[in-house]
Amino acid sequence: MLGTMQDGQLSIANLLRHGSRVHASAEVVTWTGDGARRTSFAEVGREAARLAHALRGLGVTGDQRVGTFMWNNTEHLVAYLAVPAMGAVLHTLNIRLFPDQLTYVANHAEDHVILVDGTLVPLLAKVLPTFETVRHVIVANGDASTLKAPEGVSVHSYDDLVGGQPDEFDWPAVDENSAAAMCYTSGTTGDPKGVVYTHRSIWLHSMQVCMTDSMGLAQSDRALVIVPQFHAMSWGLPYAALMVGASLIMPDRFLQPAPLAAMIAAERPTMAGAVPTIWQGLLAHLQQQPQDLAPLGRAVVGGSACPPALMKAFDELGVTIIHAWGMTETSPLGSVSRPPAGLGPEEAWEYRILQGRFPASVRARLVDDDGNELPWDNEAVGELEVAGPWVAKSYYRVAEGAEGSEKFHDGWLRTGDVGAITPDGFLRLTDRAKDIIKSGGEWISSVDLENAVMAHPAVAEAAVIGVPDEKWDERPLVAVVLAEGGSATAEELREFLEDKVARWQLPENWAFVKEVPKTSVGKFDKKVLRSAAAEGKLD
Ligand code: ADP
Repeated sequence: MLGTMQDGQLSIANLLRHGSRVHASAEVVTWTGDGARRTSFAEVGREAARLAHALRGLGVTGDQRVGTFMWNNTEHLVAYLAVPAMGAVLHTLNIRLFPDQLTYVANHAEDHVILVDGTLVPLLAKVLPTFETVRHVIVANGDASTLKAPEGVSVHSYDDLVGGQPDEFDWPAVDENSAAAMCYTSGTTGDPKGVVYTHRSIWLHSMQVCMTDSMGLAQSDRALVIVPQFHAMSWGLPYAALMVGASLIMPDRFLQPAPLAAMIAAERPTMAGAVPTIWQGLLAHLQQQPQDLAPLGRAVVGGSACPPALMKAFDELGVTIIHAWGMTETSPLGSVSRPPAGLGPEEAWEYRILQGRFPASVRARLVDDDGNELPWDNEAVGELEVAGPWVAKSYYRVAEGAEGSEKFHDGWLRTGDVGAITPDGFLRLTDRAKDIIKSGGEWISSVDLENAVMAHPAVAEAAVIGVPDEKWDERPLVAVVLAEGGSATAEELREFLEDKVARWQLPENWAFVKEVPKTSVGKFDKKVLRSAAAEGKLD
């Protein structure tokens, strides 16, 4: 028997209509360095219509891909809405990928048009001649004449192209299961892999972002969206904001601690989202130049394990860090750590530092090396597998049996993350499978060691990798960045760890480095660290 309810499509066009009408006065603020540009959701709706007309004019039809090479700003938000709403597919290019990876993803996605920010034109210019399917480039926030177009590519000024277009568009009806946006991840080996979100998955994920025990995004929020729009769709914050009318504060290219602090002072966000390294940098800045962060009440932190010491430090500044786990493949929201009700601060703390509880739409299980399911007893450690309506079931154009397809089996996504689950459904990750250190047949969690070292007041950052060892196979090596004005020797740090980790885990290899190399999305780049260590070039 079928139900008797209507078949309302969960589409980006409907989200855009809703947000720009019902939440017409919600604000979008783009930081300009010494101030801000401001617009409303109503105006974003009109601008999306103008951009859609312009793209149709350039021949964008069907599900053609429109790439963005942009910072977090108003124009990028407009593209987030216009491109899927017109039935095309948004491809957010990660501006920090290596040139050959950029070439690969633009050609693999078969981008037809690229929207580029004026400040990024020099970067794009280097790779544009290798983009085989791109026919048009639109330059926003800058001078289009600075881009020399390769043969067969037309360059347009955003303002000239979009400015005079009609501010209403007859958004086509699209099937909610059709592609809306895509994002490539470099998390696996080999070439980057494309994850293609549907209208439906984005809609459902947005609802989750707004749920109270999730990121709790609400109409009263001013969300500072630091996590890039090219990294897992900014964790879904832009779409979720349209759903509930939360205002958006977009940092554009001003991602360093000092401008972020200035943005917080001027724009008074109530919540923010970013990876731990951003908060680490901001904390170091605030220690030198203290400032009142109110009304910033909460910060969602994920992308890599959030060091407990960082959480404590922000607690003291009045900002509650909410730890979350996810992947590009999971849209990205996989779990959020909101402690169970009724706990005292100390018990609650033990939950806050975990990766969090799974929402109803994300099924999870732990499996051992033979694929057997493990119990949720917070003891058994295995690989996490997840499934659900906003979890990928394959990569774009990766056929069964091809490299990358092994991540998916029997309706589950193999996350490559290793950990345990508490009886009440909280995920406790110990490591990425590829980062675990195997010492004398036992496992050492690189994350646990990092967290323990980062709790030392003289340490700004610490990354731990395994290095080959004749006797034990592998032993941990700690790369330490000292805090400004801080000093500590390897012996002192080892001593500091003595009552925090098992004796056999105490690292004997230490390197004091100026900075820890970071990936294109700001995580510790352990691949680079490992090869530097192998070549004896860690300094
Ligand atoms: P990339 O692999 O390129 O970094 P993703 O952003 O998709 O791309 O990374 C997802 C991975 O990030 C997860 O599989 C996990 O290893 C790690 N991660 C995300 N959030 C957390 C967290 N809270 N704690 C530990 N690891 C995390």
